[in-house]
Formats: sequence, structure tokens, C-alpha cells
Amino acid sequence: MKIARLIYDAKEELKEVSDTPYLEAELLLAFLLHKSKEYVIANLDNALSPELSEKFFSLVELRKERYPLNYITGEKEFMGLKFFVNPSVLIPRPETEILVEKALEISHGSPVKIIDIGTGSGCILLSFLHYNSLAQGVGIDISEKAIEVARKNAEALGLSERSVFFVSDFRYFDSGERFDMVLSNPPYVRTDELKNVPFEPTLALNGGQSGYELYPELIEKAYGLLKDNGTAIVEIDYRFQKEIKELFLKNKYREISFIKDLSNRVRFVKGVK
Ligand code: GLN
Repeated sequence: MKIARLIYDAKEELKEVSDTPYLEAELLLAFLLHKSKEYVIANLDNALSPELSEKFFSLVELRKERYPLNYITGEKEFMGLKFFVNPSVLIPRPETEILVEKALEISHGSPVKIIDIGTGSGCILLSFLHYNSLAQGVGIDISEKAIEVARKNAEALGLSERSVFFVSDFRYFDSGERFDMVLSNPPYVRTDELKNVPFEPTLALNGGQSGYELYPELIEKAYGLLKDNGTAIVEIDYRFQKEIKELFLKNKYREISFIKDLSNRVRFVKGVK
């Protein structure tokens, strides 16, 4: 069958699960052929063998069951960089780029030391280090498998020299260092809402009954890890604004402010020690 026809048929199948079914069809085929999306577009008139066509449609079927495209292809772009992902890590969300951009703006190219708590794929820490070439950082995660992914990303992005990753429960983490910045996108999905994100690791998402169960210890710990005048930025669900602000106040942070995402919803809280 011609590639053009395969892509068309796949697009029809994927309409119900995706807003960008044509693009996803192209990406799935590119992944299967170990080629770029551009290659697929340039070869629409070429035919694919029945075996490959069948393989292609089994990927389309998997995707139709809402299995994330990025787990199939094993990668996700974040801050213009390619990150390996697998089902042991959360797929980086475009919204989280705002956290990194804000942190970069604050650091202003200076040789800061940062820590990313619950680093997952390492996307926050590593993209920060990529765009601030004088910075160094630590990434910690309770999941050993996540840390494996983060280290692989550090290697692939040429950032192993300026980053170090530890498998650690943040509550007990202490390397003796203090940081200019603490960044975190912790698990904040309410347990009863986890069913809306069925394929990603519960460990990365589950914020308990309230959704903000981890924040009291996280915000307190972040304060302890910061140098004086250091900044903490954490991602939150806009529904927890009031509770999170109280935690920042209780821990004596200064200059507490909220940062909105692209849909104009509060998504991050920032505070200075
Ligand atoms: N923003 C993610 C979601 O909506 C949740 C991320 C998290 O728990 N840190 O699925």
C-alpha cells in the first residue's frame, strides 16, 4: 500500500483520540521506519510492504487505545530538546516549560546551583542546564527507573559533567550543599482523578486524596535546601493556590507570587528565602 494511503487511513482511525491525527500518523510511521517525519512526507508515493503496513496498523491500534504516542516513539520534545521517555517517567508537559523559562530568567546566565526534586526524565534540570551553560545541578527522584532515564538524557544532551542524579526520597535528601534554586513538578493529581492519566506512573502523579499531600514537606524541605536569597519554584494545580500560599507563608518565604500557564491559569508558585 502507498504511504499516502496508509497515513490517510491511520488519520481516520486516530481522529477519535487525537487533535492532530495526521501528524501522529506521520510520527508513528517515521518511528516504525527509523526515519524522520520529513522522510515520510517526501515519500508519500512509495509503497510499504504488507508486513510493515501490518506493523504500522498495530501501532495505530495501540494508540487508539490511548496509549501515549511518546511512549510508543520513546521520545518527547521539551524546551526544544529531545528527551527519552518510557512508562517509568511522566511525559513532559509543555506547560512545565514556563517553570524552566522563569528559572532561566531569574538566574540570568549566572553560575547557579540548582536542584530538581522529583526529576523524572530530568527534563526540568537538563533543559535549564542546556540554556544556562554556567549552571550546575542535582536531580533527585524516588524512582530508580526514572533516574536511569534522567542519566541517559544527561548523557545524550552532553550534560553529564554539570549534572548529578540520585535515587532519593526528598524528605531524607541532604548532600550538604545549599542551592540557589529549588525547582519541582511534584505529583499533584488527586487519587480519585488518577484514572484520567492511566498510562503514566502513579508515583509521578499521585498527590493523595487532596492532591497536595506532598507539598507541606516539599515546601519546608525546599526552604532548608536553599541558600539565603535563593528561589523555589514549584508546579501546582490551580485549585490548591490558597493552601500552597499558606505553606509558603508558614515557612517564611518572601516575595511569594503565582505564575500562570498559557491558558491563563495559575500553575506555579515562587518564593524567595
Ligand atoms: N500536569 C500533569 C497532568 O495533568 C500532572 C503532573 C504532576 O502530577 N506533576 O497530568
